[in-house]
Amino acid sequence: METREAKPVIFLFTFPLQGHLNPIFQLGNIFFNKGFSITVIHTNFNSPNSSNFPHFTFVSIPDGLSESEATNPDVIDILHDLNSKCVAPFGNCLKKLISQEPNAACVIVDALWYFTHDLTDKFGIPRIVLRTVNLSAFVAFSKFHVLREKGYLSLQESKADSPVPELPYLRMKDLPWFQTEDPRTGDTLQRGVMKSLKSSSGIIFNAIEDLEPDQLDETLREFPVPLFCIGPFHKRVSPSSSSLLTQDMTCLSWLDKQASKSVIYISLGSIAAIDESEFLEIAWGLRNSNQPFLWVVRPGLIHGTEWIENLPKGFIENLEGRGKIVKWAPQMEVLAHRATGGFLTHCGWNSTIESICEAVPMICKPSFGDQRVNARYISDVWRIGLHLENKIERVNIENSVRTLMTSLEGEEIRKRILPMKETAEKCIKLGGSSHRNLENLIAYILSF
Ligand code: UDP
Repeated sequence: METREAKPVIFLFTFPLQGHLNPIFQLGNIFFNKGFSITVIHTNFNSPNSSNFPHFTFVSIPDGLSESEATNPDVIDILHDLNSKCVAPFGNCLKKLISQEPNAACVIVDALWYFTHDLTDKFGIPRIVLRTVNLSAFVAFSKFHVLREKGYLSLQESKADSPVPELPYLRMKDLPWFQTEDPRTGDTLQRGVMKSLKSSSGIIFNAIEDLEPDQLDETLREFPVPLFCIGPFHKRVSPSSSSLLTQDMTCLSWLDKQASKSVIYISLGSIAAIDESEFLEIAWGLRNSNQPFLWVVRPGLIHGTEWIENLPKGFIENLEGRGKIVKWAPQMEVLAHRATGGFLTHCGWNSTIESICEAVPMICKPSFGDQRVNARYISDVWRIGLHLENKIERVNIENSVRTLMTSLEGEEIRKRILPMKETAEKCIKLGGSSHRNLENLIAYILSF
């Protein structure tokens, strides 16, 4: 009888936020294509759609979040709740999985699961951490305690534009802070994540080391564990959806009707929220720019409203087809579409790397966390976008859209992003840094 060699198994512990689910599922597909079996451990809260990944095994754990906890607008609170309520369920689940699986290779956990190290140590299984930010933001986060001690994080308006001596390129206002009622919860999170990272068997980044060589050196100096930059993940695997919201595919047929590189795409990601006045200023700015636009207005994006009911009557009709608003888009396809010429973004790292990979220049409107760091790199270091530094007003939106899409300055920005796209393409091919790092990572996992 033919015997099949059993595949090594990786347990992926996914964190239930959109910007964390997308990269970890892409990573799962990368490992699956390299001959690993994948078991996904996930919470009931924001449970991923397993039917999109029939080649993975799914195991859910009860997270114990009450309805009010699950709908808490303070994401940092949810994060802490999950980290305390999932200790026992995750421990029980992992113990059972390991006892049933002789080929268990390792656990890959999202860095936001900062409680897991005690359990993986106890069960004697190697733990590798996926950090879903880039190296520049990672370095900034790793200096969090120093920045806090020096008082940089309690921002004073007058110092907002001062440089940060410890972090070249960044200004005080770019430092990663957390949108939370209680700043101490941000500190707890940061301390927990750092401890968990430093005690891990390795850290994986959806990043490209050629784009951030200085930060790689700095990270290697600071962190005593192996680091693997193997991004861009999404360019290594065929698209498959880990979207929590339904993507409105009519965007694509609407884009088909637009001229090449004429459309400005707007999305502020899955968590950031804006005031109603900001929403209306963006709406009028887009309209006044006369540029075609595709705008993702996620339910919950605008504080205090359901969706777009507060747009002035006739606003959409008067655009005569020049603008389209959807609740959620197939973002990767939108960015790859020939009609998309610019991206007004909140600068989450997934959105940023997805934009770089399609050479779509950006307009940055960051809110919190790593978004500010990314925005500074986009506008001042890589110079592949414009930065909306001031209060959101229609005239700023209009001017930045016109500048990016129609001016000579916009053309220069567009030229600068092309070599970055080429670097992203080359690094995952034979001889490229991410290609080499993935091979090293696989050999490392198989050596456990
Ligand atoms: N995304 C999407 N459709 C949208 C908006 C976003 O599929 O309409 C995806 C996007 O491609 C990215 C993720 O959601 O992979 C957002 O992650 P990011 O790190 O940019 O921001 P976050 O949501 O974590 O703030």
